[in-house]
Amino acid sequence: MIHGEIHQNVRQYINGRWETSATTGVSANPSDTSEVVAEYARADRRQVESAIRAAADAFSHWSHSTPQRRADVLDRIGTELLARKDELGLLLAREVGKTLPEAVAEAARAGQVFKFFAGEALRGGGENMASLRAGVQVDVTREPVGVAGLITPWNSPLAVPATKIAPALAHGNCVVFKPAELAPACGWTLAEIISRAALPAGVFNLVMGSGREAGQALVDSPLVDALSFTGSARNGERILQAAAARRAKVQLEMGGKNALVVLADADIDHAVDCAVQGAYFSNGQRCTASSRLIVEAAVHDAFVSRLRDRLKALKIGHALERGVDVGPLVDEERLARSLAWVGIAREEGAEHVWGGEPLQRATAGHYMSPALFLATPGHRIAREEIFGPLACVLRAADYDEALALCNDTPSGLSAGICTNSLKHAMHFRRHAEVGMTMVNLPTAGVDFHAPFGGRKGSGYGPREQGRHAAEFYTTVKTGYMLA
Ligand code: NAD
Repeated sequence: MIHGEIHQNVRQYINGRWETSATTGVSANPSDTSEVVAEYARADRRQVESAIRAAADAFSHWSHSTPQRRADVLDRIGTELLARKDELGLLLAREVGKTLPEAVAEAARAGQVFKFFAGEALRGGGENMASLRAGVQVDVTREPVGVAGLITPWNSPLAVPATKIAPALAHGNCVVFKPAELAPACGWTLAEIISRAALPAGVFNLVMGSGREAGQALVDSPLVDALSFTGSARNGERILQAAAARRAKVQLEMGGKNALVVLADADIDHAVDCAVQGAYFSNGQRCTASSRLIVEAAVHDAFVSRLRDRLKALKIGHALERGVDVGPLVDEERLARSLAWVGIAREEGAEHVWGGEPLQRATAGHYMSPALFLATPGHRIAREEIFGPLACVLRAADYDEALALCNDTPSGLSAGICTNSLKHAMHFRRHAEVGMTMVNLPTAGVDFHAPFGGRKGSGYGPREQGRHAAEFYTTVKTGYMLA
């Protein structure tokens, strides 16, 4: 496999200028660890604080910019992302190991998100109310919040940042964006495109570095008015405590233990498709991955046998190779963690059905065969987020037990059901304790213009995406006037 270009000039973008840092890091290609993808600057606390000050200084001007100005900027960014989707998809596939078609689709989605919010910048409006008092007028308007600190994970390194940066700018906020350490080149490329979109200096800033130093500096700064974080529940919890202590607005998108319920009346082949896509595509490294497959007893054995056949046929390999279904895990640590989960499943007595082995390929990468176990509700693999290619099947006597199992988790992001029963589908949509329900669809895979987010331990604060993003990126003002 031919190595791609090394991104060497991956620097911070602070107050309209590119800056080096005292320390640097590298990102490597998980499909072929001999390939360096980027050498990047790692920001320290002082650099993050200077980015925050720049954003705070730019706010008074940008928050009063016209909707047309903001729409033009966002439209321009979206146009470039869409025009370069193949090249950006290639970079994304090299940096985090998503297959090329998935990676190109993600780059396009990032472009579409900017286009959508270009429209949102123009569509903003308020509410007019009749007052209880004669001669008084009441109106409700939305204003930008201030400086938004945006902290993102590595698994969707273009789409998740776009989902935060675009609405923040559309609604008149200034941004300090901290991408994940494992995907600096994706974060930097997005920032480079934004840097050429005619924004005033300081409105958008990029700081790459560790969560512990660069991320924490954003969380701690009294100048950051709103924190939007996507990542693990453990880090989200810490950020929530810190944000609450200084009354910053906070939005958390965290992990899931999403269930796909398969009822006896479902089209079993379609249900197996939903399970394969939801549980194993992108190696299960998706917050919406269905790592619990809850199957009605009458079709349990048939479902497990067809799913095993599908897993045997999945092609695991280099993310850029044509015809590959699933690429490598993102790094050595995540591969080791997923393999450790296989060991935990075996030790706890879950019945092994298929996979869970490290795989050798022509290039040295973090490959693993998709793992399937039969579990009971008490097993750890049925309770904890794995974020790897391991799913378990839980047997349910009937729909009622399946729904109870689905809700028996501290998480509440996405839940799916495969059924031909309208009654059960409708009941499930109402009673699944999650932010998003899927009927005859995989638990992963959502539209960019509809609200996204979870309940219980999976999320906190207003939803992301679409018109609902305004809840987080604006604050409401009520005006009274005696006419
Ligand atoms: P992570 O929590 O390790 O890191 C996420 C981001 O937070 C990174 O940029 C990291 O540098 C930063 N960070 C870490 N510690 C920090 C701190 N103390 N202060 C501030 N920032 C800090 O998560 P990850 O491993 O990158 O991503 C995987 C997790 O993300 C999974 O749990 C997955 O479910 C979740 N996820 C959720 C969604 C969603 O929308 N619900 C989407 C994608 C991923």
